[in-house]
Amino acid sequence: MAEHTKCPFLVVGGGIGGLATALGLANNGKSVHVLEQAPEFTELGAGLQLAPNALAVLDQLSVLETIYEHAVFPKRLVIKDAYDGKELTTLDLGESFREKFQYPYIVMHRSDLHMVLLNACRNHKNIQLLTNKQVQAVDHINNKEIKVSCGDNTEYIAEAVIGADGLWSNTRKLVADDKPICSEYVAYRGAIPISEISEDIGMDDVIMWIAPNLHLVQYPIRRGELYNQVAVFKSFHYKENSDEWGTPEELDEHFNKCCTKVQNAIKYVHRQRRWPMYDREPIENWTSGRFTLLGDAAHPMLQYLAQGACQALEDVVCLTEKLSEHDTDIEKAFLEYQQERTTRTAQVQRNARTWGDTLHAEDKITILLRNKLFKQNANNTNAVDWLYGHFAKKSKEKVT
Ligand SMILES: Cc1cc2nc3c(=O)[nH]c(=O)nc-3n(C[C@H](O)[C@H](O)[C@H](O)COP(=O)(O)OP(=O)(O)OC[C@H]3O[C@@H](n4cnc5c(N)ncnc54)[C@H](O)[C@@H]3O)c2cc1C
Repeated sequence: MAEHTKCPFLVVGGGIGGLATALGLANNGKSVHVLEQAPEFTELGAGLQLAPNALAVLDQLSVLETIYEHAVFPKRLVIKDAYDGKELTTLDLGESFREKFQYPYIVMHRSDLHMVLLNACRNHKNIQLLTNKQVQAVDHINNKEIKVSCGDNTEYIAEAVIGADGLWSNTRKLVADDKPICSEYVAYRGAIPISEISEDIGMDDVIMWIAPNLHLVQYPIRRGELYNQVAVFKSFHYKENSDEWGTPEELDEHFNKCCTKVQNAIKYVHRQRRWPMYDREPIENWTSGRFTLLGDAAHPMLQYLAQGACQALEDVVCLTEKLSEHDTDIEKAFLEYQQERTTRTAQVQRNARTWGDTLHAEDKITILLRNKLFKQNANNTNAVDWLYGHFAKKSKEKVT
């Protein structure tokens, strides 16, 4: 007979989405258990870009000041041609950007963000953090209770459950029977000490080098102590259910065609681990009674707009707002949360795919037109209004 623990709110998954959810709920007076499958709460050794729409959430969670201590504040987002090295477009992140979107654009180490959230959760009396808890099943017992069963034969009976268990979500099975879709692109990424790089690197910019079927992203993190690089390319040897594609040899083959600066940068990219890139089709239903999804479990997207974590954080604000509005009616709060978030996140998921196709275009005419548009749109913050201005727009609407 499995051991039972009763709890009001239960979050499955202790990534950025899960921890931020626990904090948002706890700050609103809810008592929360977080179940994480890993032996400890950790994040990857790589970087993360956070746009103003994410910073608005971190501010609401009262962790923004601590986040700023670990962040780098780049001056520009720059796209360059990876073959000839020419600058194609840029977005100035200075004063007028900050004024318009009410927060800056920052880059930081994932594990620094995760650690800030984790410490805030650890210091909150309403949050219980549990590791080595691999959730295997989520079942409705009745219309007020949900049973969560773990691999170690423990069970939790919760009044509400939020599945924040990432791209390969197990809890998503309660509401959908779909599977992640492989883009046939693969990423190699990691951060190295700045002191190990002998090349001349731009400390003020987030740089994206693009060419047909590939790109390389570079930016400094951890107050400028580390340099983060993500090299991405389309494998021409993709095989379903196999790990024998997107190899380090293919990485070199793809990037050997690039300008010297990119070729030199690729030498510093970690090769120990490859990340095949997946997303899923947007779905309209994340909710079943007192269960709902959040973050990558709900809307995994390709990383090209650098918005996956930002969208998970946006989810948190919406979910906590709906729960405070309908304090005694969790089902209603979850349904309204889903209604508000599914349209927005589907738009970001779809745009991330299209943006990827644009960056990786092969056809000469498409490239010509794209580069012309890039030039015309340089420093046009209106083009990113829909993405970064989510909360800025709402707060202006409230004032007027
Ligand atoms: C190359 C790359 C670059 C990216 N760059 C950016 C960027 O710059 N900006 C940005 O906003 N986003 C970026 N993203 C996306 C971002 O990383 C994700 O969207 C974000 O981490 C999702 O957080 P999450 O908490 O929803 O899921 P995850 O981070 O996947 O966390 C899920 C957690 O659940 C746990 N878990 C899983 N299954 C179970 C289970 N059965 N039981 C218990 N626990 C479980 C996992 O161990 C994990 O801790 C990038 C993604 C990639 C791949």
